[in-house]
Amino acid sequence: MIYSLSKFTSIKSVTNSSLLVINRTSQVLLFSRLKSAFPADNNNSTMKSGTTQQLGLLRKYMKDLHHVPEPLAAYLVPSCDAHNSEYLAAVDARREYISGFTGSAGSAVITPKQALMWTDGRYYLQAQKEMDSNWVLMKDGLATTPKQIDWLVKNLEPGSVIGIDPLLVSSANWKAWSEQLETVGSRLHALDQNLVDLVWREDKQNPQPARPENPVFPLEYCFTGKSWQSKVEEVRKELKENNCKALILCALDDVAWLLNIRGSDIDFNPVFFSYCAVTLKEVVLFISPKQVSDNLKDFLSSVDMEESVQIKDYDDIKRYITALGKEPGKVWFPKTASHGLVSLIPQAQCVSKLSPVTVMKAIKNDVEMKGFENSHIRDAAALIQYFAWLQKNIPSGQVTEISGADVLESFRKEQEHFMGLSFPSISGVGPNGAIIHYRPEADTDRTITTEEMYLIDSGAQYKDGTTDVTRTLHFGVPTDYEKECFTRVLKGMIQLGMSVFPDKCLGVRLDTLARMHLWNVGLDYGHGTGHGVGAFLNVHEGPSGISFRHNPNDPGVQEGMIFSDEPGYYEAGKFGIRIETLVKVVPAETKFNTGTKMLTFEAITLVPIQQKLIDPTLMTRVEIDWLNSYHQTCRDKVAPLLKAAGKQSALEWLYKETQPIG
Ligand code: ZN
Ligand code: ZN
Repeated sequence: MIYSLSKFTSIKSVTNSSLLVINRTSQVLLFSRLKSAFPADNNNSTMKSGTTQQLGLLRKYMKDLHHVPEPLAAYLVPSCDAHNSEYLAAVDARREYISGFTGSAGSAVITPKQALMWTDGRYYLQAQKEMDSNWVLMKDGLATTPKQIDWLVKNLEPGSVIGIDPLLVSSANWKAWSEQLETVGSRLHALDQNLVDLVWREDKQNPQPARPENPVFPLEYCFTGKSWQSKVEEVRKELKENNCKALILCALDDVAWLLNIRGSDIDFNPVFFSYCAVTLKEVVLFISPKQVSDNLKDFLSSVDMEESVQIKDYDDIKRYITALGKEPGKVWFPKTASHGLVSLIPQAQCVSKLSPVTVMKAIKNDVEMKGFENSHIRDAAALIQYFAWLQKNIPSGQVTEISGADVLESFRKEQEHFMGLSFPSISGVGPNGAIIHYRPEADTDRTITTEEMYLIDSGAQYKDGTTDVTRTLHFGVPTDYEKECFTRVLKGMIQLGMSVFPDKCLGVRLDTLARMHLWNVGLDYGHGTGHGVGAFLNVHEGPSGISFRHNPNDPGVQEGMIFSDEPGYYEAGKFGIRIETLVKVVPAETKFNTGTKMLTFEAITLVPIQQKLIDPTLMTRVEIDWLNSYHQTCRDKVAPLLKAAGKQSALEWLYKETQPIG
């Protein structure tokens, strides 16, 4: 699955947030008064969700805030949560609630007169379709569209006050935006309460969902390969080396990995709402007490009871950081930490650096790596079963993108250690395959036929690993053009997969390898080539990646990391091709050795590439050898599992598609 660049990169900031308190009773009164003041929205089609009432109430709050000397000239509603998560829990879908726009990327500005939504090219059509007439679409990425901050500088009265929830903006963005606003005497104002939450909580028809508090459970040592105690010791070593007294972890997968625990508060991501502080003396987990069972408490205690993780309430994090700031010593905030947390202590005490845990968890230990490999054998078995099933069932004309993906999920569910999908399956036929972030819905669901190419990008969470694989298939007779495009995408995947490069080579330098055979004939694809993958954690995991986009946080590609290798080619309205294989980074054997450690990749996804789409005349001997050897590995590793499970038609499909070519 393709990773879109995240919104939140940062450095530290000084600004202290002014706190705002709104009396709860007055909120309720205000809401009931306004509900009757705004007639129901009746000028919208069924596609659009009416936002007149919500906006009206929000504007009322913008005007009547206590402790803010003047009314807000604008209120900003970004798309993120307080942990900069890629996927949001329903409670955090504030931008969606206030605007009706459901796309994953978008940022809203609400002024007393206007409501504007910035979103990128993937979502222009969807935003137009979903937003009512209160909203103006700002097409982000077009030269004619001002950046949001430039718009605020230019369009608001000089000296304006702009409100934002400081937990939803990185300290770096806060600082950069503040500097720009200062040029016209305007400023950001940190509101202690989220104004959209205030509106949403009082919405009787569509109340804000509660923050999930699902059970949190320990992940056994046989899956993690390292105790939380030894991970904490490694963090402390980093703290000492960086002259810091504490590290504040904000990213949910950082907390889950460090403490070897998992949850299910966010769909597809086995994480839970929390923060964690590691000091030289203590470890504190900030989490809802409802999520902490006795079993978990035991797990978070050391056997010798010398050290146990202290449990504090999720909301206590602010108080804790404030107290840290009252004593001397530096506090390490990850670069993505929000202004709302970083601003709680004096700037001189803040260190803003990439979280050491983010780097530690990207490099898989032997147990994690073995788990990845094992989970990929089972995942391949499920996918191969699916392809054999498709081959048999497509001629009936009854298999659609959605029903097919459901069958695939049922095959994955049968596999050992299955915990859920790792993202919603991208199951796209013909023109739908060309929509990079496509997810089939009832109104787009297309039948899988023998006439069009079929792209399936899917993955699962297993206790021992996370999978993400894309294969593109044709169940009839592909055209020569389709075969050429497919073969060039495959050549790119192989080229990157067998590349040899120096230790810590930046991902941006490798991206071209996957594109060169497309570029040679004037083709390309509009997404990055590879992302990291978590170990029973998020399918998109930083800090490294293989992309043409500059990544300021890239520590370079290192042994033990896992990446996707996923070039593609998309022809709007016709077809989409993507071939995605996860690879692990291993040492390379080279003819000469000058002392520089050299690395290469080794495939861990074990799903054959459909042979009828390959034109071997376009491939070199080396590429053909690579493919034959890959297919032999798929056969050797997956066949025993299919045999043991008595999956005869899947086994036949595997043998057919792994015959040596050329
Ligand atoms: Zn994928
Ligand atoms: Zn992927």
